[in-house]
Amino acid sequence: MTDLHRLSIRELSEGLASAKFSSRELTEHYLKRIEKIDAQVKSYVTVTAEQALAQADAADAALKAGNATALTGVPIAHKDIFCTQGIKTTAGSKILDNFISPYDATVVAKGKAAGLVTLGKVNMDEFAMGSTSENSYYGATANPWNLSHVPGGSSGGSAAAVAADLAPFATGTDTGGSIRQPASFCGLTGLKPTYGRVSRFGMIAYASSLDQGGPMARSAEDCAYLMNVMAGHDAKDSTSVEKDVDNYVANLNDTSVKGLRIGIPKQYFNVAGLDADVKARVEESLKKLEEMGATLVEIDLTMTDAYVPTYYLIAPAEASSNLQRFDGVRYGYRCENPVDLMDLYKRSRSEGFGKEVQQRILIGTYALSAGYYDAYYVKAQKVRRLIQQDFLKAFESVDVIAAPAAPTTAYKIGANLSPVEMYLGDIYTIAVNLAGLPAINAPVGFDKDNLPVGLQLIGNYWSESQLLSVVHQYQQATDWHTKRAAIAEENA
Ligand code: GLN
Repeated sequence: MTDLHRLSIRELSEGLASAKFSSRELTEHYLKRIEKIDAQVKSYVTVTAEQALAQADAADAALKAGNATALTGVPIAHKDIFCTQGIKTTAGSKILDNFISPYDATVVAKGKAAGLVTLGKVNMDEFAMGSTSENSYYGATANPWNLSHVPGGSSGGSAAAVAADLAPFATGTDTGGSIRQPASFCGLTGLKPTYGRVSRFGMIAYASSLDQGGPMARSAEDCAYLMNVMAGHDAKDSTSVEKDVDNYVANLNDTSVKGLRIGIPKQYFNVAGLDADVKARVEESLKKLEEMGATLVEIDLTMTDAYVPTYYLIAPAEASSNLQRFDGVRYGYRCENPVDLMDLYKRSRSEGFGKEVQQRILIGTYALSAGYYDAYYVKAQKVRRLIQQDFLKAFESVDVIAAPAAPTTAYKIGANLSPVEMYLGDIYTIAVNLAGLPAINAPVGFDKDNLPVGLQLIGNYWSESQLLSVVHQYQQATDWHTKRAAIAEENA
């Protein structure tokens, strides 16, 4: 079959179960596409062809023996922030260019246990800091919809790989939008789960109180399959929550759009810098949901102006602490010929970290320093609580909250926005992480340059099933999620 990359996860699952094709055939098909097409997209940092084929053969044996899961033999790409035993894990950084983890992240281990086949590790902004994937030591990844644009970030490699049909789905992580914004820029569906739903064990830390892994795929249905694997309590992550997981696939039709109360925050649609096409497409999608029976309710989210300053204190503060461990001593990059210990620390970190990462370590260290701790860090924590309360109050009168995922469509590669301009682009995503809420991006059309636009739906705690279900209903009634970039139409 030449069009295996067009099949949804459900179709892949059914095709493998009924032996219409084997996992080896499917895996070879994707590896061939990567070999032919990824030179233009540059989504993969590491392709693990040999291991993938061995996993595929094992999957085929399990399928034959009748002990397969729904996903046995289905290929996946992992964001290069998830530790993979025996395979390089870089987090997009030079400082980890030689790092081979001795263990698998829980998410990776769960994927293996479910029979998933790892195609490789995909590109990202260094330590997940960024919105374009240009902050990667391994170079920029291209947006499959227009190769001179970025795929978003930080999970830009995950988004680009799926949008170019170089993986059927991928893992991502979201500290301040890194699943939702690249999903939006690349026309995909991506879910950021409630904080604590997915284990962070073996997921290289950026800002631990905000970081959360989640699925990126072509549809809510595809995301649901991956959520079934990723979600769940993990004794190795003390912030993962002991709470039963849903069967996200079985629940896909459980929430009706009929009667759904969708909150429209009036502050969100008056943000300076909100692109007219983005606004129009999002409003059209809300109109469609209204036609399907939803009620649109105007709501107030009074803390909107505080999102960016609050996030850009808390995230760098946590990053400055988390990144202390990269010191050139135990693992990772070490400078040449250090003259003493201080020189070793200084040069290993100055040479190993990129500019954005160094900038955030400086800001974070400053915000945490004795004289400024109360004025910046403690204050930001208080405002964080107010932001959370703002959402909880809104959820007293609505079921979900709608917003764009990003104020614009994908930037041009090399646009070189100032840090402040770049940070303002995170306005719609970061509050969700500060509050620990789940949120989903769904593609809802294109701008005048044929770049995808995304609708974000924010849910209350543990509403992943509801969010996936609402988007699934929307995707049954529309076809934006079936559109493919021209490069994805190319055959290998
Ligand atoms: N763009 C945001 C940042 O640079 C979000 C990144 C993320 O979610 N990892 O911090």
